[in-house]
Amino acid sequence: MVSTSQGVSGFISRITAVAGLTLFLCASAFAFGTVSLLGQNTEHEKITRLALECKTPEQINCFEPKTLDSLAGKKGTFGAVGAPDPGPTLFRFFAHCSGGDFLAAPDYPRSKEKAEEALTLCRTWMILNLNRAIKVSADMLNTEGQIKKSQLPTPLLPCGYAEGVDKRAKCQVLKHLGAMLHAAQDFYAHSNWVDIADKSKPLGRFNPPGLENRGVAPWLNLRVTDPPFPEGLISGCGGIDAVTDGEGGCTGRKGRLRVDHATLNKDNGDVVPGKSIGKTPRGALNNNFRFAVDAAIADTSDKWQTMIELLITNYGQDTAKTMICALVSDKPLEDCQ
Ligand SMILES: [Zn+2]
Repeated sequence: MVSTSQGVSGFISRITAVAGLTLFLCASAFAFGTVSLLGQNTEHEKITRLALECKTPEQINCFEPKTLDSLAGKKGTFGAVGAPDPGPTLFRFFAHCSGGDFLAAPDYPRSKEKAEEALTLCRTWMILNLNRAIKVSADMLNTEGQIKKSQLPTPLLPCGYAEGVDKRAKCQVLKHLGAMLHAAQDFYAHSNWVDIADKSKPLGRFNPPGLENRGVAPWLNLRVTDPPFPEGLISGCGGIDAVTDGEGGCTGRKGRLRVDHATLNKDNGDVVPGKSIGKTPRGALNNNFRFAVDAAIADTSDKWQTMIELLITNYGQDTAKTMICALVSDKPLEDCQ
């Protein structure tokens, strides 16, 4: 399992504490899109497919079509990766790597430490889901190491990802894998990791600095325990922190505006590897959406690879091989025994 200095139990209690609050925020705001409406164009689904689909018959550890439909979502469904959007974590900043706003300006109404804490909770959320996926993977097999039919989805009864409903082990594993991938993909859409700011205008609330990185953020490498927080990394104000952190919401105290989600997000656009075109202001600027999508595809592949490595570390090569086969195959009972 992967560890964090914060400790997962403390994190769970914090999540439980915020879960009791009722929020009234705009529902269209919060991720690479998951469905084809409201200006969203199934960006999460496309990113997940590009990263994890089987591209050649020889490829191993890639997801077969029906299982990929279930993980990535398909027309009319959210899938495991899209599930955090309609689900109870929609407005929880840590599930979407939002809420990490800060600017190095003397009158900015929020501390750098709070911004760092918010983004770090998103990383911890990924670790929590990864660890749960690893743990529940054991429930797919019996004591002889064979796949249990009862723990698999069927064509008639595919996985459901609503909270606490579908207890079948493969569905639980895909749910946690999906939640981890969703947060990782959102990191690139919601933070300034890849961004190039508008160089023709002064930096500030409406033109926050960009870090101009390409590819996977080393800070999101979950194989590493407590890597240093990237200097200057922020995401947009929004989610539950905006009403609970005592800083007056995204409009800030005394009208001192914070960098918000609407300004910074690169959520929507046409996803084409290397050529994606963004439709939000920040995404359309300087190819920022394209860089976010390409990084999200690379990170999605890397997160799945991390999970494969952890399954091998925790269960040994042979058992892990059966588990991975059970996860990616559309017919595990025929393919994986
Ligand atoms: Zn999201």
